[in-house]
Amino acid sequence: MKDNGLLNGLTKEQVEINVKEFGKNRIKEKNKTSIFSILLSQFNDIMIWILIVATIISGIIGDVADSIVIVVIIVINAILGFIQEFRTEKSLESLKKLSSPTTKVIRDGNLKIIDAVELTIDDLILLESGDRIPADAKIIRGDLTVDESLLTGESVGVIKTNRNKENNIFMGTIALKGKAYAKVTNIGMNTEMGKIANMLQDIDEDKSPLKERLEGLGKVLVVICLLICAVVTVIGIARGQSVTDMFLIGVSLAVAAIPEGLPAIVTVALALGVSKMLKRRALIRKLPSVETLGCTSIICSDKTGTLTENKMSVREVYFDGKVYEKREAEVDKNEILKEIFVVCNDFNINKNEKNFKNQIIADPTEKALIEYYFDNVENLVSYHSSFKKLSEIPFDSDRKMASVVVRDPKTDESILLAKGAPEKILLMSKYYLHKGNVVDLTNAKRQEIIKEVEMMSLKGLRCLGAGFKKNNLNDKSNLEKDLIFAGFCSIIDPPRKDSKDAVIKCKQAGINTIMITGDHKNTAFAIAKELQICTGLNEVLTGDDIEKMSDKALSKVIDFIRVFARVTPKHKFRIVKAFKEKGHVVAMTGDGVNDAPAIKEADIGISMGIAGTDVTKEASAMILMDDNFSTIVSAVEEGRKIYLNIRKFIRYLLSCNIGEVLTMFLASIFSLPNPLTPIQILFVNLATDGLPALALGVDNSHDNIMSKPPRPRNESIFSRGLWEKILFRGALIGISTIFTFIIGLYLGFSVRTCRTMTLATLVLSQLIHVFECKSETRTLFEINLLSNKYLLLSVIISVVMIFGIIYIPFFQAIFKTTNINLLQWGIVLLFSGIIAVSSSGFGLIKRKKS
Ligand code: ATP
Repeated sequence: MKDNGLLNGLTKEQVEINVKEFGKNRIKEKNKTSIFSILLSQFNDIMIWILIVATIISGIIGDVADSIVIVVIIVINAILGFIQEFRTEKSLESLKKLSSPTTKVIRDGNLKIIDAVELTIDDLILLESGDRIPADAKIIRGDLTVDESLLTGESVGVIKTNRNKENNIFMGTIALKGKAYAKVTNIGMNTEMGKIANMLQDIDEDKSPLKERLEGLGKVLVVICLLICAVVTVIGIARGQSVTDMFLIGVSLAVAAIPEGLPAIVTVALALGVSKMLKRRALIRKLPSVETLGCTSIICSDKTGTLTENKMSVREVYFDGKVYEKREAEVDKNEILKEIFVVCNDFNINKNEKNFKNQIIADPTEKALIEYYFDNVENLVSYHSSFKKLSEIPFDSDRKMASVVVRDPKTDESILLAKGAPEKILLMSKYYLHKGNVVDLTNAKRQEIIKEVEMMSLKGLRCLGAGFKKNNLNDKSNLEKDLIFAGFCSIIDPPRKDSKDAVIKCKQAGINTIMITGDHKNTAFAIAKELQICTGLNEVLTGDDIEKMSDKALSKVIDFIRVFARVTPKHKFRIVKAFKEKGHVVAMTGDGVNDAPAIKEADIGISMGIAGTDVTKEASAMILMDDNFSTIVSAVEEGRKIYLNIRKFIRYLLSCNIGEVLTMFLASIFSLPNPLTPIQILFVNLATDGLPALALGVDNSHDNIMSKPPRPRNESIFSRGLWEKILFRGALIGISTIFTFIIGLYLGFSVRTCRTMTLATLVLSQLIHVFECKSETRTLFEINLLSNKYLLLSVIISVVMIFGIIYIPFFQAIFKTTNINLLQWGIVLLFSGIIAVSSSGFGLIKRKKS
């Protein structure tokens, strides 16, 4: 481990002893949803209780067996609901674990990343900007500016250093700037945070807007349903039917038809979507984001590591007015460039690895520089440690440079070594080095160097300038000024192989990909062009350009811009705002601590799983586990699918419920006997509502989902003709079911036989309809009926159930059914099938006409 001198941290054995003694670094969780409360919530519906009470009353004064069956059906329904909710809860919980924080710790002399809960007393931790402090600790080396607002309410950063008493840092606070090693003093409930025990980085459980809207709709539907049920009940009673019978029918109908499960099933669909997205390497932290993802119209992506591979290597080196394309003797002779690039370099060594490349733990830019000059650890460490580090200003993307002050072993003098964006180093330089001599940096020379940088950048290379100084090192406020420019190098970072396809896919899906980068305009343009993000330099805007623009001016041009180069995190914030003002739904990536405000402002803030800091992760709605751009596109695609699936089961559930209510309503209007008994109504609900609807929630047939523009964010879930489809199909189900009943009566079958036929027609037409719901654009004749195995299975189960209650004598007695013959089946199939065929045929004709 370089850089920490004798700091080796705890040994494995010490860790074991401490963990035994002090336990884990865990804040006790509160308010966990218990299994019991989930079970209880299944009965959290007034209609269920009315039904239970009505059943008990009717049991006392009438048919006890009937009442028992009704209660059993209610319980089975509750168990199904419970299983569904319990699984959702479990999968959300495991997601919470996945997004739990990690920390950098030094143990046995090696730097490791471990789960923060595994930390123990006396552990040596490394903290850098963007880290959330994982335990209470004392700084023993370095400086750290910490945001302690969580504890003190004071949002100004506090400087903590080992040089004075201000060296205690606390769990949950945030490292804003700097780099420090600290020794853990308290963990878990013994930390300051544990004492107030209010810190729990949960997955955000915000309500999904869709769920809220559905809850609103649910209330309206409840009222309508109740009214119709009341009408059915009153008409029945007026016609002289028994009050208890009619009351039970009315309440059963209400229980069956009120789509109380709609909002719950939306949560299930979103949660299922979350686990699907995880398989595609996107970890969702906020459930409602799944819904918003589908509306994304702009994806603002970082370049380095997201669109590009982040596997860097040095291509060319420039000094003394010449470009060197290979590492040759001349380059090796330039001691100062090597010193700057290797000593002003923030790397660590992992001794457990064998291969040199894997032994270096560093940002890819830094790693590329080391690999350019060294190929084994021993030489590297002996070279690096010969320079004693005196102070350091780490790299940050606002300053775009980094520097260290070290003692030069050759001269025993202090020297400042700086590297950063070439323009930045040039701006800070007063002199330049020419064949070993320090010469004044004239404007002409400056332009000459800038021109070289631009040429290299145009090839898509990333440039890094180098500077140094030996004088005035005590003037801290001007430490990085008046440098001697030593040269620069260019680094290649090839685009990811799948980025281009993902960009093209976005284009077809009406989504614009925007590159936002701290890199040079030309570098950004070259890579963006290769990835087909933009075509001309007129689509590129720089941070300087943005600086000169008002918010209004920026929003005027923003729709034409595809690349933002040399930007700082505060520009990112303005870019998101401008896009949002234009009505876009914006997804934006970020990694550094300064990106957090922009990430929060975006509709979908995306942080990097590998390169991201804790603070950006916590501000984000989604974490990219592989930092890869194409993962964002997969997540958007998944978001669209989930929304479509939600539409599918809403369509299914509502049209079926309309069918059920209409059947009973028409019977009472036409003064027919009740076509179904309360138990039969509840059976229909059990056989058709639960499993098939859930299976639609995971359906995978999606009419070319990525070839259509994104849906507007505030679009109603019933838009694009869904209401019409639901009403039309619900009416067909109701009418054909009541026709089956009427024809049965007309042909002189017993009421029990007619009810059995009605029951079969109602269930079968719903089971056929569930396949229609697989697609909004294609008809039954055009879709692959076998593609969803869950749907097939649930339909088979329902068919077995209906055959079971029609033919098994035990169930016949319970459900008041009877055997039906071939002719009667013919009628059932005709009416349940004919409506499906005719409605599909109608759809086909309508499409041909339009
Ligand atoms: P992106 O925002 O797409 O991730 P980026 O990684 O190029 O882009 P920054 O990390 O902000 O953006 O880098 C901006 C510039 O700062 C680079 O072009 C480079 O010149 C310089 N730079 C990058 N990394 C370092 C570093 N470790 N030390 C010094 N300078 C650096």
